[in-house]
Amino acid sequence: MVAVSYPARAVVDLAAVRANVRSLAAHAPTAQVMAVVKADGYGHGLVPTATAALAGGATWLGAAQVDEVLALRRAGIADARILTWLYAPGAALREAVEADIDVSVSAPWALAELAAAARASGRTARAHLKVDTGLGRNGLTPGDLADVLPEVLRLRAEGAVEVVGLWSHFAFADEPEHPTVKLQAEVFAETLETVERAGVTLEVRHLANSAATLTTPAAHYDLVRPGIAVYGLSPVPQLGGPDDFGLVPAMTLEAELANVKRVPAGQGVSYAHQYETPQDTVLGLVPLGYADGIPRHASGTQERPGGPVRVGGRTLGVAGRVCMDQVVLDLGPGATEQAGDRVELFGTGRDGGPTAEDWARVAGTISYEIVTRVGARVPRVHV
Ligand code: PLP
Repeated sequence: MVAVSYPARAVVDLAAVRANVRSLAAHAPTAQVMAVVKADGYGHGLVPTATAALAGGATWLGAAQVDEVLALRRAGIADARILTWLYAPGAALREAVEADIDVSVSAPWALAELAAAARASGRTARAHLKVDTGLGRNGLTPGDLADVLPEVLRLRAEGAVEVVGLWSHFAFADEPEHPTVKLQAEVFAETLETVERAGVTLEVRHLANSAATLTTPAAHYDLVRPGIAVYGLSPVPQLGGPDDFGLVPAMTLEAELANVKRVPAGQGVSYAHQYETPQDTVLGLVPLGYADGIPRHASGTQERPGGPVRVGGRTLGVAGRVCMDQVVLDLGPGATEQAGDRVELFGTGRDGGPTAEDWARVAGTISYEIVTRVGARVPRVHV
């Protein structure tokens, strides 16, 4: 979309992304950094944030989908190592191998498909075995692993697939003291031994997402895989905010007021009149709604203000229901705002303004969901 008059935008500070990666690298000095850029760079824009992360010192990029990592190569990101890890049978693994992408293997069929892709392309594929150490999501079970190890050695001898990585993912990384963190780390260490004892020479072992990068040094191994912290949001808000970890939120979601008008006391506001003006007042219309990622669960009522919006130096909760394209603010009787004035839904929080974490709290979710759901029609402006 060519957005010359769109009254809202997500401004993405690429200097913040670079600085966040430097900060994460300092937290894990013995490891390389894989910046996780899936889901359009957590909503911040795939290629600009990947490029900024590399400039900040990341040497790897990671994304779930094969199409996402192919887009990185197509955009000219040629040198960085790139890992993809989520696909179903029939995925474009040949294209991935030809694009020099590392491919995760979470099941025996995946190893077979990767080998076939490698043979078809005449190249050796690089694989990372993913083990399910307790998350109960993707990954090889211990039984699967025993089955695939002989095949791994055979495919190496054939020159089809080289297993270069072993990796896993935590269930409770955001609660570093949770017993499963230690347990999963132990299972990972044991699996590592099994794989190496079988004669597989690993280049990288990796286990840590943002939370583990910041709180669990024992999980750093050779490579850390931060996502949310690359974008400056805290993965462990109960333990500290971005500032506490040397992070700066990269995205600011802002808009221009699309209407400002005086209304009498008792005016019902937005669908179902969930909010009613307690006095003669001024309403301001913000042209962003749930189609733009503003959570409907952050609607406001009389008793409970909705998601926070910074306007004219004060922070107001959304009044009434969040609609598809718009939300309403009760600016108060003395408001001097006019249509066209800037409002901020979330940003760095450094000036006392609201953050994505604040929206997450009001909506009963996590900051990840707030930034990744900023709608496709909202222009991203990279600065
Ligand atoms: N590694 C894997 C396998 C993931 O799925 C994710 C994201 O969910 C990450 C790393 C990055 O996680 P976070 O954004 O919590 O740092």
